[in-house]
Amino acid sequence: MQEKSEKLFKRAQKFIPGGVNSPARAFNAVGGSPVFFDQADGSILIDVDGKQYIDYVGSWGPMILGHAYEPVIEAVQETAAKSTSFGAPTEIEVKMAELVKKMVPGVDKIRMVNSGTEACMSAIRVARGYTGKDKVIKFEGNYHGHGDSFLINAGSGALTLGTPSSPGVTEGTAKDTLTASFNDLNSVKKLLKEYEGEVAAIIIEPVTGNMGCIPPEEGFLAGLRELCDAHDVVLIFDEVMTGFRVAKGGAQQRYGVTADLVTYGKIIGAGLPVGAFGGKQEIMDVVSPVGDVYQAGTLSGNPLAMAAGYALLSELHKNPRHYDQLEEKTTYLYTGLKEVFADHEVPATINRVGSMISVFFTEQEVVDFETANTTDQEFFKAYFHAMLENGIYLPPSPFEALFLANSLTQELLDETIEAADKSVQHALET
Ligand code: PMP
Repeated sequence: MQEKSEKLFKRAQKFIPGGVNSPARAFNAVGGSPVFFDQADGSILIDVDGKQYIDYVGSWGPMILGHAYEPVIEAVQETAAKSTSFGAPTEIEVKMAELVKKMVPGVDKIRMVNSGTEACMSAIRVARGYTGKDKVIKFEGNYHGHGDSFLINAGSGALTLGTPSSPGVTEGTAKDTLTASFNDLNSVKKLLKEYEGEVAAIIIEPVTGNMGCIPPEEGFLAGLRELCDAHDVVLIFDEVMTGFRVAKGGAQQRYGVTADLVTYGKIIGAGLPVGAFGGKQEIMDVVSPVGDVYQAGTLSGNPLAMAAGYALLSELHKNPRHYDQLEEKTTYLYTGLKEVFADHEVPATINRVGSMISVFFTEQEVVDFETANTTDQEFFKAYFHAMLENGIYLPPSPFEALFLANSLTQELLDETIEAADKSVQHALET
């Protein structure tokens, strides 16, 4: 039992809704008290009770080279000493934009914001402003932050006009968000036909992370590109998770499909609050102050956040071997886990792309929201808690991807596979 974590959680619940500042970190999907952390180094987390864990959350993505990565820490410390914010332009913002342009195909111009949510909200506004159309197509089970337009649920597998999935989102907003099925081009074609001339944008997680890791099927992203070109629709890749992770140039590079707009978060800020949206010059030039589409932020391009992100991205740019090593490590984990589940005769489908990986406890192939939902959630809960007990920190939900860091060593991966073996045994007994 994690005594201090539990005490802190009780205190937190008095003054913070649900005791957390973002719901995904509460243990709602698995039950119990979330772990409160004190410090981390590389892939090792230490909680407030002094217990150590091997980290597979990586702050939900940013820690691709591990926690307390020295060049990031140094950049933040040096920059902080010169002031934490000016609300005026700084050189590091220019360097950052130039670096992203070098790393990513198709990003002619980029605007920094403070979160992935802001990036996606802004991208949609830009697409609407650019096309003069209102409706947006998103995919069931994809998450693009908590902007009103994205909190729309079409109901399981149904292709229909959205209904709000959160109180506080108006019917008026919901009617402009259409929902299609991931990996199903026909579902998109149908919507484009039904709402011909009304769709401003298609937004997608090119590799889904938010219903667990689901890769795009061969030709799916290219098919979306063609449909967008044929219907004058802005294609937006939400690369908040995949950007600078599934390849240096993100999913665009990995799958050879260039979007019109791209959104970023997580890695681009190295753990500080950063998001960004960018893309084709012609579209980005509608953004104020050049164009009329308003978008702003007092702390946007904040020097600390830029310095941290620049330090991390520079390393990834200079040393693409990180991607090969991450690929090898994820393959090793994949093979080890596959063996464990097979040995225990536990049905498991493991999806992975680059350093994103998810285990679904199901016999089915997982290609979309419906198939992701066939995972055995009760078994996941038991497995999750046993892994936690055995010192492995997994995302606390069956519908999230693990994010591997290049700070993971062979020993840590072996320890993880051993822990999985014990945890599966334990889960089967409970
Ligand atoms: N898009 C995707 C694909 C995400 O995974 C997330 C966050 N998990 C967001 C957008 C929203 O980012 P943020 O939490 O920084 O607002």
